[in-house]
This record gives sequence, structure tokens and C-alpha cells, in this order.
Amino acid sequence: MSEPTRYDVIIAGAGPAGSTAGYLLSKAGLKVLIIDKSAFPRKKLCAGLITYKTIKLLERVFGETVASLKEKDLINYESNCYEVYCRDKLITRRNIAIPFRFIDRDKYDHFFLKKAVDAGADLIEGDGVRSLDVLKSMITTKSGRKFSADVIIGADGVNSRIRRSFLVDLFGRDDWSGNLASAHEIFLSRESVKKQINHPMLFFGYTEYGYAWIFPNRERLKVGICALNRKNKRKDTLTAFAHFLSEMGFQYALEEKVNSYALPYGSYLPSPIFRNVMLVGDAAGFADPLFGEGIYYAQRSAELASQAVIEVMNDSNSIEKFHDTLANAYIKLLKEHIFTELEYAGKIRDVVFARLNNFRYLPLKILMGLLGDKPAETVHGTRSYKWMKKRAG
Ligand SMILES: Cc1cc2nc3c(=O)[nH]c(=O)nc-3n(C[C@H](O)[C@H](O)[C@H](O)COP(=O)(O)OP(=O)(O)OC[C@H]3O[C@@H](n4cnc5c(N)ncnc54)[C@H](O)[C@@H]3O)c2cc1C
Repeated sequence: MSEPTRYDVIIAGAGPAGSTAGYLLSKAGLKVLIIDKSAFPRKKLCAGLITYKTIKLLERVFGETVASLKEKDLINYESNCYEVYCRDKLITRRNIAIPFRFIDRDKYDHFFLKKAVDAGADLIEGDGVRSLDVLKSMITTKSGRKFSADVIIGADGVNSRIRRSFLVDLFGRDDWSGNLASAHEIFLSRESVKKQINHPMLFFGYTEYGYAWIFPNRERLKVGICALNRKNKRKDTLTAFAHFLSEMGFQYALEEKVNSYALPYGSYLPSPIFRNVMLVGDAAGFADPLFGEGIYYAQRSAELASQAVIEVMNDSNSIEKFHDTLANAYIKLLKEHIFTELEYAGKIRDVVFARLNNFRYLPLKILMGLLGDKPAETVHGTRSYKWMKKRAG
């Protein structure tokens, strides 16, 4: 039997997390293979909102700016205004300095995957990972091809095959599925909607621990709902979605196809590495537990994982030490740059959903009035979720 082809790093999954890691590691001179079960451009269910902290990351990592992203039509729409409702009652409508920006995932993901390939990564698409042999550090694809590597990165999304290759939970979090949200979304063409909706709108009060949204794009509206699994039954969330659509006057939308997918919603893993197998993005549950923002955390965790790999590969002597050093380096970076944000976003979620919702909209309205632009600045990342403190830079 022939030996598996050897790489420095194999990345399972070519979403924003996989492409970012593939790009950075290839640029650092490593021999990288990216494997995705889909052929690109592929569909990914998402509302497509990107925040200012994502823009800063795209500038820092890929040298892309708002202007260059607009020129390539990757930013499809932007709005400086947003509204928050408790059911049909307006809580706040604000204009903010930094706009919320919207992308289409098929284009966005394909663009950054091409960047990784241009930087030197090998790509296999349309042939997913079937299994991982941790001890041999070897991947077998669905078609039976075998590859091995010094480091394996699981960037294969919320249902990660890499994460599920471990029969016991080695990554330190209970109730993975209870801490996911069920998310449902439909896309409405602008012509089919009588109202002019030109800014993002969020709606609380339709589900427990979740919210509904209407996000505009140039050609269409993305209308969705998400709700934490351990607080809601899936069928209740779908009923709530139908209710929401009908209250919005989108009755005819009920016949539209509802797309559903899981969203990490407080399920982040405190220790997303075992030996030389690292998890990034949704595979590690890295979306924020308040709004479910995951594109930024996918790309940021991939950036941190890549930094850890590059540091340790330049510096390790023995294989045993390599595993420990890699784990320490990755977890240290996650603690510094991601965990505090996710933890405090979770605390704010508890205040918003567990307490204020009980009294319906008035406390939320008063709180949002007192906070002014701070919530939007926190989502954009110019403030931290920890006490909404202003960040330097
Ligand atoms: C309805 C909905 C709306 C959302 N809206 C937003 C939003 O507006 N803004 C935001 O920031 N986030 C949003 N998110 C979250 C966001 O989509 C994710 O957090 C983000 O896609 C995570 O990126 P990723 O690269 O980790 O995983 P993914 O984007 O899921 O990419 C994983 C890749 O792995 C591949 N893969 C899967 N299994 C295998 C396998 N066995 N072998 C090889 N490849 C495999 C898949 O084909 C896929 O390409 C939303 C999510 C949902 C469900």
C-alpha cells in the first residue's frame, strides 16, 4: 500500500476559518492541504452581516479594505442605521458612525479560498474527510485518498467530522448540542416585499434565548430566527418563525423554502486542541452567544491557530514537547483574544434574555436608551463585551 501524501498542515473545511488558516500558513512557507466536501462556490446558510472588527481583520490578514471589497462586489450592502424591537414594539432606532456591512457567503468564502490557493495551498474540493486517525495523524477522504500531516486543523463547521472523530469529549464542554441554536432563514426578493427595508432590524420576544432578524441586501432581504436548543424545541422555533413572518406581513413567505442550520450559541470549547489536532471556527463553537456572530470568530481563531502553529514549528525539538507547546500557545492566544469576549457576551445574553424579557420591552428600552451607541460599538469590537469598555486602537 502506498504511503499517504505528507503535508505540514492539513485543514479540513474551506469556510472563512479554513481559508484564513490556509492563507496564513501557506504564506509562512508551510506545505498546506485544504480539503472541503463541497465544490466552490458553495452555498452556506448565513445572514451575512460583518462587523468592523472583521473589516480590521481582513485588512490586517489579507490587505483588503472596505474600498477593495466593494470594488469586487464582496460587500453587497451597508447601513449606518439599525432598529431593535421587542415583538412589534420599537425599543431603539439609532444611526451609528460605523455601518453594518453585508456579504453573500458563496462569493465571500470562494474569494478567501482563492487567496489561500494563490498563497500556495493545495486544495481538494468535493471530497470530504471521512475519518481521522489521530495516532497516525492521517486523514482519509470519502473517496479513500489518504494524507498525513504534522498538524491537523478542523475548520469543518458546526458538525465537524474532525471533532466527532474523538469518541469521548476531549475538548472540555458538556451539552454541545443543547448549547447550539437552531437557525431558520428565508430569502425574500425586494420586489416581493411591499415595505422598503433598508437597515438591519432585530426582534426579541419571539423565542426564549434567541431573536429574529431582517437583514437587507441589495437584491433581497434575509429573514431569520435563531433560538438556543436547550431552551426551545425545534418545532416551537419554527412555529415562532411562522408567527414572526405573519406579524411582519410576510404571509406569502410561508410557502417559501425555509432553510435550517445549527449555529454555535454558547457552545465554545475551552480546550479546542488534542495532541496536534486543532479546532477553529464553528467546529470549536466560536460564535458569540448573544447574536451568533461567527464569521469574525472563525477567521480570528484561524489567525490565532496559525500564529501558534508557526511559532511552535519554528521552535520545537521533540514530538511530545511539540504537542504540549502547541496546545499551550493556542489556548493562551484564545484566552487573550477570544474567550473573554465570548464569556461576557454570554453574561449580557443572560441579562437580556433571562431577566429583561420577563418584563417585556420596557426595561430593555430603558437600558438601550441609557447605553446609547455602546451596544453597537461592542458588536463592532471598538468596545469589549467585558463591561463595554472602550478598546485601544
Ligand atoms: C442562519 C444563520 C445565520 C448566520 N448569520 C451570521 C451573520 O450574519 N454573521 C456572522 O458573522 N455569522 C453568522 N452565522 C454564523 C456563521 O455562518 C458561522 O459562524 C461561520 O460560517 C463559521 O465559519 P467556519 O469556517 O468555521 O465554518 P463553515 O462556514 O461552516 O465552513 C465549514 C466548511 O467545512 C466543510 N465541511 C464540512 N464537513 C466536512 C468534511 N467532512 N470534510 C471536509 N469539509 C467539510 C463545509 O463544506 C464548509 O465549507 C450564521 C449562521 C447561521 C446558521
